[in-house]
Amino acid sequence: MKKILLIQTGGTIAMQAQLDGVVLDPDRWSNQLYKQIPSLNKIADINVEPLFFEDSSDLHSYHWDSLLNLIQHKYTQYDGFVILHGTDTMAYTASALSFGIDGLDKPVILTGSQVPLSGIRSDAQRNLINSVEIATSDLTEVAICFNDHVYRGNRATKMSVGDFDAFATPNYPTLADIGLDIDFHRKNWLNAPTNCLNNGPSFHSGFSGDILVLTIYPGFQNNQLDSISLKDIDAIIIRAYGSGNFPIKGEYSWIPFLHRCKDNNLITVITSQANYDAVNLKNYSAGRTALDIGVLSSGDMTLEASVTKIMWLISAHQDNHESNLQIAKKFQESLRGERS
Ligand code: ASP
Repeated sequence: MKKILLIQTGGTIAMQAQLDGVVLDPDRWSNQLYKQIPSLNKIADINVEPLFFEDSSDLHSYHWDSLLNLIQHKYTQYDGFVILHGTDTMAYTASALSFGIDGLDKPVILTGSQVPLSGIRSDAQRNLINSVEIATSDLTEVAICFNDHVYRGNRATKMSVGDFDAFATPNYPTLADIGLDIDFHRKNWLNAPTNCLNNGPSFHSGFSGDILVLTIYPGFQNNQLDSISLKDIDAIIIRAYGSGNFPIKGEYSWIPFLHRCKDNNLITVITSQANYDAVNLKNYSAGRTALDIGVLSSGDMTLEASVTKIMWLISAHQDNHESNLQIAKKFQESLRGERS
């Protein structure tokens, strides 16, 4: 029987329903949760690690590092890992973990639920059983298993607050779909690593927090940008419209700000507020000007992948003394299947 480590980090799945909403209840749930589903032990030999117990909106890069360190230390003892996690930032954590592990050769599956396990009609039991099952497979990716679908973690985004079908990968097909049988779509999987068969994967924790994400909207008063001290920031991600479009006329133009970013040696990325398809900066005049200034395109990456990738690349760059050009080059490559 395969050995699976179930890592508890909190989220709605582990919360307790009350009349006026749901609350975390660490004493009750932190390592008891899975015992509510005795059938799990028929699928795998499970150990539980209560790592932390938080609403996922309180998570940050420190928690991603702790997850990476835990998986690294337990890596050889287990065949797969399941992380119980809140849905709100699950796609960020999944993306961060994917960048932090190079040469992964086991499944790392994140799951959670829309209704606490203790709630009537909860989706927790199904998600947890499915995830443990997937963690016993030969998938070699960080994935999200939710509502009978398995998604590449760094392609996923939370799409719904109220639907059991909370996640999607707008620009990538599912890795598996679960019905009466599990339909593994192996053609969509990353190739298992071959270069490190004997050495196992390498882990690189560390994510820089010195980035800023800005959302453009009609009427955005650009003088608000003047008060941002760009000296303390390494990268800016701009959530533009459609294929990467943004205002270029008069007082609303973003061009002066892009020049300021360049003068301050920032890495500047344009992503889209639209979920489907890819940013193409060559399409419109705004994008072409941005390209001339040296702005990067996020392509078809999710916001979650773009944010965590740039945080990770900047931190690694500080350790390895790499230039912004090297970061830019890596940002535009697919490192873990996160962009086409
Ligand atoms: N606020 C919760 C969390 O992200 C939502 C959930 O788990 O569904 O921790």
